[in-house]
Amino acid sequence: METIKVSVVTPDGPVYESEVEMVIAKAQSGELGILAGHIPMVAPLEIGVVRLLKADSKEEDLVAVSGGFLEVRPDQVTILAQAAEKAEDIDVERALKAKERAEQRMQDQKAEDIDFRRAELALQRAINRLQVTGKQ
Ligand code: ATP
Repeated sequence: METIKVSVVTPDGPVYESEVEMVIAKAQSGELGILAGHIPMVAPLEIGVVRLLKADSKEEDLVAVSGGFLEVRPDQVTILAQAAEKAEDIDVERALKAKERAEQRMQDQKAEDIDFRRAELALQRAINRLQVTGKQ
């Protein structure tokens, strides 16, 4: 099967680079599966797991992405994210602490408060990281 080049980039630099058979990402419009030859496009992403299917789709890499954009060009998929981590780079203890902190903040704030929304997003990021490591 044909492969496509994919890179995940953050303001701190590149996080992931590989040739894959399929990129699966959670766009705001729903789940996207990108294969070689996909039409060019740009899509905003949700906080979610990006799955990168390797040769014969038998293996996959997982990257936790905290929103951003996915851009498809004829020979390359680029994911530009505010933050992104490969599964093996995720600090589980840190994510668990971030999750607890966010849950506590959500209890202390009113739902319409801006800080409630911020805590909600922090909670989503922490849960996403834990999911990628298989600890959630
Ligand atoms: P925290 O409160 O623990 O900082 P956060 O969700 O607010 O979590 P971000 O602002 O999304 O963190 O990310 C800041 C930087 O820290 C980014 O470079 C991100 O990749 C990294 N990062 C955040 N949480 C983790 C984690 N659990 N393991 C590894 N890197 C992390």
